[in-house]
Amino acid sequence: MALIVHKYGGTSMGSTERIANVARRVAKWARAGHQMVVVPSAMSGETNRLLALAKELAPGKPATPYYRELDMLASTGEQASSALLAIALQAEGMEAVSYAGWQVPIKTSSAYTKARIDSIDDQRVRADLNAGKVVIITGFQGVDEGGNITTLGRGGSDTSAVAVAAALKADECLIYTDVDGVYTTDPRIVPEARRLQTVSFEEMLEMASLGSKVLQIRSVEFAGKYKVPMRVLSSFTAWDIDITEEAKSGTLITFEEDDQMEQAVVSGIAFNRDEAKISVLGVPDKPGIAFQILGAVAEANIEVDMIIQNVSKDGKTDFSFTVHRNEYVRTVDLLKEKVAPALGATDVLGDPKICKVSIVGIGMRSHVGVASKMFRVLSEEGINIQMISTSEIKTSVVIDEKYMELAVRSLHRAFDLDQPIAA
Ligand code: ASP
Ligand code: MG
Repeated sequence: MALIVHKYGGTSMGSTERIANVARRVAKWARAGHQMVVVPSAMSGETNRLLALAKELAPGKPATPYYRELDMLASTGEQASSALLAIALQAEGMEAVSYAGWQVPIKTSSAYTKARIDSIDDQRVRADLNAGKVVIITGFQGVDEGGNITTLGRGGSDTSAVAVAAALKADECLIYTDVDGVYTTDPRIVPEARRLQTVSFEEMLEMASLGSKVLQIRSVEFAGKYKVPMRVLSSFTAWDIDITEEAKSGTLITFEEDDQMEQAVVSGIAFNRDEAKISVLGVPDKPGIAFQILGAVAEANIEVDMIIQNVSKDGKTDFSFTVHRNEYVRTVDLLKEKVAPALGATDVLGDPKICKVSIVGIGMRSHVGVASKMFRVLSEEGINIQMISTSEIKTSVVIDEKYMELAVRSLHRAFDLDQPIAA
């Protein structure tokens, strides 16, 4: 007998029919002798619907009181889907009980719309499990010290599930979703993309931060911190498929590099179209310049990703960096109006039509020449690299957005990701 946490995404909870199927699947696991905790998302579209209503009525300048109400509002999506799942389980003849985050309680910081989980009290849940009940806990939400309802940011139910699994020391956290696992890259771009049977936690963390949308990045951080065994698998298989087969399906996120079954140098290709590039030209090359530029950007609460400073010529240099595309206009305005004049920069140039393509693999630690192979492949396709950044297990390049698909496809082929790994 094991303690298992299941997480179901919005699509899996999208209609009463689908919720009934989730209930049947969970009942199958419970009848196989497992203690079951389920963390659902809101029914698909519900969070967007609620937030759109708020927007219609929103006050001019959003401030903390408004964000508090957004959380109060958005959290109802998960409260509804959780209660519906409990009802569906009862209809299946199971004893089931649902709890909102504050009832557990799941304690969080007070940062509305992006709260962080501080602690989870497992007593109430354990008592129910010991009494033979299936316990359903709302995803996406918690309660702060002042008793206010908070939410964890979009996609936050993944994090709720992993955190609950960590608190209960669950044997495994299964994330049921509308894809059947983690792929070498997005199959919509590269049809030959393969599902990975295993992926290391570090690779998953990089992929999540580099644009892969399979898991909320914080859930991966949580899994890493508490070593929660985690699996991503499809909720669209028939609910009554063989449980042993189901338990082995999808992609397992592993922590032991040595028993990696797949020893590829590069495990996946991530891409992200959400960035924009900005260059400040002809700034004096002297101490404090990076701080003056990026300090102003940080002060405006704009997050910076890649940064490059050129070699200087005649005491002047160019400085480039990327920001989220939504922040592009605001950043350019800020630099043009405030920073460039103060620095005596000659110009501020920007390009919102770029993308970032990254290769990820823990094998890069022990193999040389992986990055240069990436550069060669891109040059053979005539793709110009505008910026490069590397870490131990990834290399990212910024290129023109119009070459994104070509770049991803060529790299996928060049690193043999379409070939099954020899055992
Ligand atoms: N319902 C929330 C959202 O749509 C949380 C989640 O689904 O993970 O972002
Ligand atoms: Mg999700």
